[in-house]
Formats: sequence, C-alpha cells, structure tokens
Amino acid sequence: MRNLIIGSGITGLTIGKVLTNKKIGFKILESQSEIGGRLQTSLISGHFVDVGFQVLLRKYPALKLFPEINELDFMDMKSGFIIYKNGSFYKILNPLRNILGLIYYNKFPGFSLKDKLLLIKILTLSKPLNKEIKTLEYLEEYGFSKTFINDFFISFFQGVFLDTKLNVPLDYFLFILRLFSYSKVSIPIGGISKITSVILDKIDKNKIILNTEVIKVLENKVLCSDGKEITFDKLICTSHMIEKTFIKKINKDIFKDIKYNGTLCFYYLIKINNIEDRIIYLFPKSNNISSLYFKKIKEGEYLLCISSLNKNCSYLDIENEIFSYFNKIDSIKLLKSFTVNNGLPIMENFYKYKNKSFMKYSDNIFFAGDFLSTPSLNGAIESGINVSEVIS
Ligand SMILES: Cc1cc2nc3c(=O)[nH]c(=O)nc-3n(C[C@H](O)[C@H](O)[C@H](O)COP(=O)(O)OP(=O)(O)OC[C@H]3O[C@@H](n4cnc5c(N)ncnc54)[C@H](O)[C@@H]3O)c2cc1C
Repeated sequence: MRNLIIGSGITGLTIGKVLTNKKIGFKILESQSEIGGRLQTSLISGHFVDVGFQVLLRKYPALKLFPEINELDFMDMKSGFIIYKNGSFYKILNPLRNILGLIYYNKFPGFSLKDKLLLIKILTLSKPLNKEIKTLEYLEEYGFSKTFINDFFISFFQGVFLDTKLNVPLDYFLFILRLFSYSKVSIPIGGISKITSVILDKIDKNKIILNTEVIKVLENKVLCSDGKEITFDKLICTSHMIEKTFIKKINKDIFKDIKYNGTLCFYYLIKINNIEDRIIYLFPKSNNISSLYFKKIKEGEYLLCISSLNKNCSYLDIENEIFSYFNKIDSIKLLKSFTVNNGLPIMENFYKYKNKSFMKYSDNIFFAGDFLSTPSLNGAIESGINVSEVIS
C-alpha cells in the first residue's frame, strides 16, 4: 500500500508516527527545506526565537500520543498576567493555581466581585446550552462587565486566536479558557520546534522528502516541482491549499474560502532593571502591542518577545511604546522580527469537521490538519491520529 502524505507539519508527522507504530509504509513530501510546517524556531546570535509566539498547554489531551513532549525541558510561564492600565501595571495571578491571586485580583480597577464569581462559574460549570451564539455575545450575556471583557478576555485571547473579535466557536473558546486556567503554559527550552524533533525521533527520517512541492494532484499520482511523479494508493493532504493543485476532474473547490489570521512577532535584547519575567503583559489600549513577555538571559538582561496584530506597525513604533511603558531601560536592540501571514486558519465551517477532525475527500484522498480540527497543536495532533485510523 503506497500511502503518500503531503506536508511535514505536526499533522503529517503525527500520521507518520501512527503508521510507523502500525508498521505501515508511507512517504512524506514537504515543499520547504525544513520539517515542521508552522512550528519553526531560528537561532539568532545564540538565542532561540520562535517564528511567532507559541506556547504549549501541557494538558492538551492529544499529547497522550507523545508523552515524551511533556518530558522536554521547559520554561514555564507564570499562571496569570500583568495588565497595563491608566499608567500603572496590575498583576493578576490565576487564583485556581496560586492563592495569592485572590489578593492581587482585587486591586485591578474595573474587575468586580461579580466578574470574579462569573469567571469561577464559567471555568467550572458545564457546557453552554446555546452553542450557536458567538463567543463575545455569550460572554456579554453571561454577565461579565465590559471592562472585564475588554481588558481580560479580548486583551488576552486576541494573542491566542490572533483575532480581536474572538471569532472562534464557543466550544473551542471555553476549552482553551479552561486549559489556560488549569494547565501549565510552557515554551520548550530551545524553542517550539523541539516538539517537532520529539515526534521526528519516532519516525524514519528517510521517509521525508524535503524541497519537494506537489504542484499537481491527479487521481492516483502527484507531480512534483522537480518533475518527479509519485503514485499513491492513498493520499493525505495536510494543507487545504493543496486542493488548488487538484486536476479539474477531482477538484470540488471545498476549501476556497478558508482564510488565515496573521501576526507579527518582534524579539529585542533589552537591558532593564526590576522587571518580572516569564509572565504575559497585556496592553488593552494599545493598537500595536497585543502581548509581551521577558525571558531572563542574566541579571538585568532579557530577551523581550512582543506580539502584534497590527500589520502596519514597525519595530520603531513598538520600541517607542516600550519606552513609554517601562522607565528603567538601559538599552534595547531589535534581534529579529517575523511577519506570519498564514498563522491560524479561520475555520467556522470546518471546526471539528463532522466530529472527526479530518475529511474523506474521495475514495483515496483525505484531508487532515488543524483547519479541520482546531487551530492548535492539539488540533493538529488529534486530526493526524484520527485520519490515520481510517487509512490504516
Ligand atoms: C504565529 C502562530 C502562533 C501559534 N500559536 C500557537 C500556540 O500558542 N499554541 C498552539 O497549540 N498552537 C499554536 N499555533 C498553531 C500551530 O502551530 C498549528 O496548529 C500547527 O502547527 C498546524 O500544523 P499542521 O501540520 O496542521 O499544518 P502546517 O504546519 O501548516 O503543515 C502543513 C505543511 O504542508 C506543507 N505543504 C503545503 N502545501 C504543500 C505542497 N503543495 N507540497 C508539499 N508540501 C506542502 C507546508 O509547507 C507545511 O509544512 C500557532 C501558529 C502560528 C503560525
């Protein structure tokens, strides 16, 4: 049986791992020169920087397939955040993970006792009755104050969903909200691509062919950019964009409307005193900075990672804003910036596709990936596992 997988992102590698376990043959074709798809880390002047701010929620259910991932060395983020408002910083710790959170929480202007009780309720009580309602409308109807919705929900989760309107299905929003409250939130030492390496260790690297873009898909073979033709019995496409390469006879134009939210990510080396590291800072009023965190290099010296959803902002805009928020800066220098256009798929119609998280496109062609599941590492792994079950 010739199983051909297009794409060496987390979905493609997961499929490779499951097929390896079952001793079933496969090949993975990847257009890029690196394995990992959207999980990429660069080493710049001795610092590991991820292409876009990404975190691993250590209790993602799909990690059961890869317990080794949780054994990596991590930098754990503190459970909570620091909000900048009216010229001051307020620290809010997660009361479910740190009892001190009950005290800090009270100090923030605009977060009422009602908001606090509603947050505990939403984190602990069962699922909503009306799943069709939009996430923001649900939060309003639930009774949260406008300040809480704006300064916490939107300010924090815009960085997670790369969307200021929290335009994600309610079920998924609640799933992620709860995970953030009870799971460790971590970044592997050495960068997010360490996750790829762990999965890669489980499969035969010779089965992955890099720098090989599939430019045409026919009924039982693909044509590659280098002129090669590869036949298949089953084909699994892990990007919806591959549909564009299908010949007319098999193309159903299903995925043409899928779009992506993008983000910008800036890394600076900064010398600054008395700064709290490993905690997410939020700036609800800023048009440029959606969130940032400091990673300590040595005393008084940090790597500063800043995420932005404003496509038009430059590193100088960001730098000026940083000077307006923090006053004990000795020096700041841009290390690297990334623009990620295709960050997270906007996928209302395909969310957890028919509760399977993959699609049988024709008798021998399948689609899998976060765009048919949920836009996260968890979604990609889940999709890879589920599609492997039906092709094997
Ligand atoms: C900026 C950013 C922040 C994120 N933050 C988080 C986070 O904090 N937590 C989290 O859990 N998830 C996060 N994610 C999401 C997570 O990275 C993705 O859900 C996951 O990596 C998707 O994996 P995938 O294999 O489904 O898709 P991809 O990684 O996109 O893999 C598809 C692969 O197919 C290849 N390909 C496409 N077309 C062809 C072709 N014609 N021929 C050959 N190869 C082809 C591509 O090159 C690519 O390697 C973030 C993503 C981004 C970009």
